[in-house]
This record gives sequence, structure tokens and C-alpha cells, in this order.
Amino acid sequence: MAKLFIWRACNELLPTRLNLTRRKVIEMKTCPCCDGEEEDALHALWLCPAAKDVWGSSLSCFQKFSFTGPNFRGLFSYCMERCTKEELELMAVTARRIWLRRNAWVFEQRFDHPNAVFIEATKSLREFKSCNVHGQEKMLPARRNEALNSKQPIWIPPPDGVIKVNWDASLNVAKNWVGLGIIARDRCMGARSITHQATMDPKMAKTMAALEALQFSKEAGFWDVVFEGDAAQVVKESVKSTLFF
Ligand SMILES: [Zn+2]
Repeated sequence: MAKLFIWRACNELLPTRLNLTRRKVIEMKTCPCCDGEEEDALHALWLCPAAKDVWGSSLSCFQKFSFTGPNFRGLFSYCMERCTKEELELMAVTARRIWLRRNAWVFEQRFDHPNAVFIEATKSLREFKSCNVHGQEKMLPARRNEALNSKQPIWIPPPDGVIKVNWDASLNVAKNWVGLGIIARDRCMGARSITHQATMDPKMAKTMAALEALQFSKEAGFWDVVFEGDAAQVVKESVKSTLFF
């Protein structure tokens, strides 16, 4: 997931303010965190005082880097020349966390402490590696057979560089609640589960799940997305009008 994020940042594909003004989605180019400079990927993830607080935290090995290039691609090349594989992985995960923190500020007015961002990045990288060490990938063929035998639909990965968002809804008519589930994957980018106290028919519940999938993708900054689920047309049309213009 961090790999795809870095690829998007290097190619200026993140929905930064500068990118959104170029696409005529918004008019304000300045960074939502510092309100000072134009927000491109390099600013959002490295130059912004809010990002610098994370890189300069007492736990960070990146605090002594003095990169002065023009874009994030240059920064990543700079890091590739100086970092070990482990440090580069940490850099990628931390950059993604900084972006998620920026999104939390924009959409929820929530701003995590710099140390918390770096600690969370370290933790998620450790957990990711731990999953691989414990042979999760070796279990995949068995899971695939299980799916084949039980005639469950098999999830087909999206093309390279594209994220697939799936969703579904379940109803409990007796208790008047609806559960919505959304998952975004190239492997696994994120997931959201929501429960509402409501009475509605299945078609409406699936449409709600589709719209939540759209909102989730927008908040997470996913630009290149394929949507798969009932009411896909709703999302497709909405994406056209709210994300791409
Ligand atoms: Zn800024």
C-alpha cells in the first residue's frame, strides 16, 4: 500500500490543493495545514511545517536530511541513495501517515501529534512485516481452494496502479439496523464498517453502501479506482462529478 502511495506522490497524482486547482475542482492552492505555501506532494509530505514536525521527531532517522530539490520524486531518489531498505520502507509508510493525518485535518478537523504519527507508521510497518514472516502469503492458495469449493465469488485484483473498492450492506429488520462494509484494495489499502439504526429496503441499503464507498475513497485520496458492488453505476456517476470533473 505504501508502495502505491509513493508511486502516486512521485507522479503528482495525490489530490493535493495544487492538483485540485489544476483540475478546477477548487480555487485555493495553499496548504490546508500551514496556510503558507502551495500544496503539492513535496510540500504536503516533506516541506510543510506540519510534516517537518513528524520527520524531525526525536524518534526519526530522517531529521538530518537536507533535501532541496523541486519535487517529491527528487526527494525519494535522494532517500534511495542514502537509506537502507528498512529506512526507505519506513520513509514510505511515514509519508503515507502524514498524508492520512493531513486528510483527517481537512475532513474531520483532527490533527495527531507528530510523535504519534511516526510511532503509528513504525507500528504498522512492523505489523505488516510480521504478517509476511508468519507466512500469510503461503496460506493464500488454501484460501483460494476454500473459495472455489464453497462457490464463493473470487476477488480479482485491479490493474497495476489502480485500487478496487468493494462494498456490501446487510439488514436486520427485527432490530432496525443496517450494516455497511467497504474495503479498498490493490492488496489492502483500508476498510470501513458502519452500523446505522434505520429501517430500509435492501436496494436502499446497497445504495447507501455504494455512496459510503465513494466518500471513503474521496477521503482516502484514491484517484484511480474501480468500484465493484451493487449500485456501481451510482458511484461511477458520482465519481465523475465529484472527483475528476
Ligand atoms: Zn503546509
